[in-house]
Amino acid sequence: MTAADPSDVVATLRAGFDAGLTKPLSWRRAQLRALRRLLVESGHDLEQALALDLGKSAAEAQVSEIGVVVAEVDHALRHLRRWARSVPVPVPVTLAPASARVVPEPLGVVLVIGPWNYPVQLILGPLVGALAAGNAVVLKPSELAPETSAILARLVSRHLDPRAVAVVEGGAETTTALLGRRVDHIFFTGGGAVARIVARAAAENLTPTTLELGGKSPVWIDDTVDIEQAARRLAWGKFMNAGQTCVAPDYVLATPAVASRLTGVLARAVESFYGVDPSTSADYGRIVADRHVERLAGLLEGQRVSVGGTVDRAARYIAPTVVDGTRLDSALMEEEIFGPILPIVHVQDLDEAIRVIRSREKPLALYVFSSSREVERRILRETSSGAVGIGVPSAHLLVPGLPFGGVGASGSGAYHGKRSFDTFTHEKAVLRKPLSPDTVALVYPPFTARREGF
Ligand code: NAD
Repeated sequence: MTAADPSDVVATLRAGFDAGLTKPLSWRRAQLRALRRLLVESGHDLEQALALDLGKSAAEAQVSEIGVVVAEVDHALRHLRRWARSVPVPVPVTLAPASARVVPEPLGVVLVIGPWNYPVQLILGPLVGALAAGNAVVLKPSELAPETSAILARLVSRHLDPRAVAVVEGGAETTTALLGRRVDHIFFTGGGAVARIVARAAAENLTPTTLELGGKSPVWIDDTVDIEQAARRLAWGKFMNAGQTCVAPDYVLATPAVASRLTGVLARAVESFYGVDPSTSADYGRIVADRHVERLAGLLEGQRVSVGGTVDRAARYIAPTVVDGTRLDSALMEEEIFGPILPIVHVQDLDEAIRVIRSREKPLALYVFSSSREVERRILRETSSGAVGIGVPSAHLLVPGLPFGGVGASGSGAYHGKRSFDTFTHEKAVLRKPLSPDTVALVYPPFTARREGF
């Protein structure tokens, strides 16, 4: 539903939901299957849109966008019957005879607002949970990935039930209009600044939110690992999508000795992935917009660049870049980098690394490269983050049993697998007690008379 009035869209979907359209499991399954068809049959169109918006390669589009959603759909289809079942719960003996159960019910009309960096996965992924749970859904893709936004609008209206699923395209103004409408849940993926706007608007109607945000995800690497192998994993997680990944390693904490070995092996890893000149590689992405190229180029000013560092503004290209010996008060350490620049901060030891992590906002992810179980245990015990990846960045989001979400400034709420269903579901508490025998009579007033009678 392109250029439609957001108010009309919400009203249409509300009518569909109120008519009971979305509740039967058969409807939910049919929509999930239709979504799967959309992804498979139009995979090529989606790949092309992602290439135009982000220079994303077809292989990366399949692995990190389309394939992730297909896997979520399959998982939901496999488990939907069980997830949607009422669950009986025990009743305290003082209430007997009675029975109690938890009845999952859809929330109603939900709004999903997406970012531009994984514009397919982060719009259609939440849609899986929202449909599985039986909701009507408004999708608002990011205007900064315009080709993907346009094709999503076309494909969704072609494949999914227009009475219950709609795409509204547009930027801040459109989103503001949508936020002014009463919906039953807002699922937002994006940055902290806009999240505050969303949370304020949601507060007006006491609308619950899921906030999938970002932050600076740190990496600890020490000399107990195969540094060559670790560097390849690190470079893969960092430079995928040209660093524009919410769970990308943001900065590395390492001792000076480890750091000096790391820069060399990272250079080799980058070369083995993208060749001597990554600007000519079909597998290396581009920065989404000129404004972000300027921001990232600004961050590189005055830095000690060990790997890469090339900026081509016209092509929106920034080479995979490593900066060694970054100071904690450097601009690179203020905001989430969200680009292909990896600063290495020197620390004396793990104690100092943990102090640095704890002194900052809680990150979306934290990565550990160490073969010491004690290091692993200490990091798990002494730090807080949305997720921890030991030996591999970003891949935790491919495990449907793991909640995907942040903590504190990196977000609230989580999804993927069953948690996506739960996010878009109200767990209704139902207690049934026969009128006879009237055991409740024991607690009827007047209490004083009874006490006197005792
Ligand atoms: P953003 O916050 O700028 O935009 C997100 C959405 O908000 C877009 O749809 C946009 O149209 C809308 N928007 C922008 N300005 C608005 C305004 N003033 N009022 C209302 N709506 C507005 O985020 P982005 O730049 O698209 O994405 C980058 C951020 O998203 C990074 O911080 C990244 O870490 C985070 N992110 C998080 C995850 C996650 O799963 N946790 C995934 C990807 C990205």
